[in-house]
Amino acid sequence: EERTLAMIKPDGLSGNYTDQIKIIILESGFNIVSEKMFQLDAESAAIFYAEHSGRSFFPSLIKYMTSGPVYTMILEKSDAISHWRALIGPTDARKAKVTHPNSMRAICGSDSQRNCVHGSDSPQSAAREISFFFGELSTG
Ligand code: ATP
Repeated sequence: EERTLAMIKPDGLSGNYTDQIKIIILESGFNIVSEKMFQLDAESAAIFYAEHSGRSFFPSLIKYMTSGPVYTMILEKSDAISHWRALIGPTDARKAKVTHPNSMRAICGSDSQRNCVHGSDSPQSAAREISFFFGELSTG
């Protein structure tokens, strides 16, 4: 079994996609170990996305991620990290609508920034992101 951090971003919540996303999660065989709603402030959003701090889109990313609450979940199953990444689809939701029309970002996202969901991209980032939101003891 493996754990990953899944997040419904502010546009996913304001678009009322939470129930639809959770149904896909459960139908795909994930166990939701823990779930919680957070309102990120600029400082915590900057820490979460620290690897992108030098990018031109960073200020706009922080504004987006703090524009409303996010809904975070610890998901568990075998190969949870790669399975969740496959379900959410490519970063750019506009491209996802063409190349991966059944992906989550194609369904609820808008563009390369407003892509409605997040998923950890490696075991290291999963451990970091799970402890960021839920504390060290939750990384599995
Ligand atoms: P996430 O880490 O959220 O799952 P990802 O791994 O698909 O997304 P990253 O390259 O890590 O994408 O970028 C993190 C987030 O920054 C993206 O999900 C998106 O919201 C935003 N972002 C990435 N690239 C761009 C861009 N070119 N313009 C605007 N925003 C972007």
